[in-house]
Amino acid sequence: MAPSQDRSQGRTGGVGPVGAPAATTFTGNKALQIEEPLIFEMGQPGRCGVDLPDPLQEGPPKVKDRLNGLRRSGEIGLPGLSEPQVVQHYTRLSQKNYAIDMGVYPLGSCTMKHNPRINEKVARLAGIGDLHPLQPVSTVQGALALIDALAHWLKTLTGMPAVAMSPAAGAHGEMCGMMAIAAALEAKGQRAARKIVLAPESAHGTNPATAAALGFTVKPIPANERGRVDLAALKAALGPDVAAIMLTNPNTCGLFESEIIEISKAVHEAGAYFYCDGANFNAIVGRVRPGDLGVDCMHINLHKTFSTPHGGGGPGAGPVVLSEALAPYAPYPWIVRNGDQWTVAEDGAKVDGQPLGRLKAFHGQMGMFTRALAYIMSHGADGLKQAAEDAVLSANYVMASLKDVMTPSFEGPCMHEALFDDGFLKDTGISTLDFAKAMIDEGYHPMTMYFPLVVHGALLIEPTESQAREDLDLFIATLRSLAERAKSGSAAEEFKAAPRYAPRRRLDETLAARKPVLRWRPSNVFKQAAE
Ligand SMILES: *Cc1c(COP(=O)(O)O)cnc(C)c1O
Repeated sequence: MAPSQDRSQGRTGGVGPVGAPAATTFTGNKALQIEEPLIFEMGQPGRCGVDLPDPLQEGPPKVKDRLNGLRRSGEIGLPGLSEPQVVQHYTRLSQKNYAIDMGVYPLGSCTMKHNPRINEKVARLAGIGDLHPLQPVSTVQGALALIDALAHWLKTLTGMPAVAMSPAAGAHGEMCGMMAIAAALEAKGQRAARKIVLAPESAHGTNPATAAALGFTVKPIPANERGRVDLAALKAALGPDVAAIMLTNPNTCGLFESEIIEISKAVHEAGAYFYCDGANFNAIVGRVRPGDLGVDCMHINLHKTFSTPHGGGGPGAGPVVLSEALAPYAPYPWIVRNGDQWTVAEDGAKVDGQPLGRLKAFHGQMGMFTRALAYIMSHGADGLKQAAEDAVLSANYVMASLKDVMTPSFEGPCMHEALFDDGFLKDTGISTLDFAKAMIDEGYHPMTMYFPLVVHGALLIEPTESQAREDLDLFIATLRSLAERAKSGSAAEEFKAAPRYAPRRRLDETLAARKPVLRWRPSNVFKQAAE
């Protein structure tokens, strides 16, 4: 099977740059971008990277077959590769990821910011990296003190009296917070009566999903023309059947909810709780304490605000701060201090509250806790505040620099992310998707597209505080050039053909989402190979 026949087929597909055929090579590789098959498609059956002694054929006397007749008769089906083939395969795969360590990663709502290497260094210290969660508590006193120190910072920065550390991500934190609300309602005998959770139309998808998963009915609240919650609509929706509002602040339009005090008062007057989605805390940390705004509980994405890795880079962590009213329901485990000894209160332990149960094995994401604490302590309170201010400054710089060629959805200034809609692409025949694909050709990971849903064809840019000024300038100049080209009236074909330089062109994303092929089946490949 010649490589060119196998590899180029369907992979370089799509149209080439206007006026030129799609570039094809003998190998299917594009310069040093190497086409990489699945590991199962490589190598030869039976090949092995190490020499193993032949298995004993005979067992001890009287036992003819040590496997009692269970010996495998067919092929084992493992890939057969030499050591260098394995090393090359995984090294190539590792280089296919786009990452914050490679360039601007403007994905709005996700806060793809630099993860300082000091965090990694500290998390890898043997006394931390080599801990085992089942070690006797007397041997992990330092780790428990570390968790408590981070908890202290989170409570102080948010102005809240308690924090549940164990949730493993933002969405898991939402689950934790809403379960605490459900437990508080249960204790008041109101769980059955209060079935509704209000969620603004701009909410992250996880908010309604969390409420629905817990058996609440989700009722959307519209946004006003300023991109904030419509206070009148919210007040009209509040009543004795409402359990809580789930509100993001700053919201997913990158705007501070300027009527948040009125919102929290109205929610509490109606006997409901105020869940704040704190994924965007990075915009206000050190400047605003959510506790002062009347928030009852809020998850904090350590992997966003406090720079611990996320996405392919590692697990997240979503501690949830809780108000006085919800603190008693915090899930196990509780880290408790007795004099100078730390203990862990696990299920069934006597604590001063009614823990809602347990959300996760062990104590939470220790590596993330360590990284977040390293980030917080290396910045200090003043440094955290400056990080938030610089993130807001960067986003406003992007918005102000592009507002004459792209269409900001709402009047500025914005917080940490700049939201544009596709108004500037009107009548060009070019969509938000085409625009984003053209960015890939220019070497940029696109911004978040088509979210939030409150504006048409959204382009949500979060530059974060960690990009240098000249890198932001090049990013802005690139978007400006694309926007001007898009509006020239003759570029539709060119945009529709993008990305032209990526190893893969336009993929059928709908088909991939609707009918994902999650399993590799050998028969297909063998069949293809035979043809
Ligand atoms: C990222 C995000 C979440 C979910 O956090 P995960 O850690 O990805 O589960 C929820 N809400 C908002 C606004 C977010 O940006």
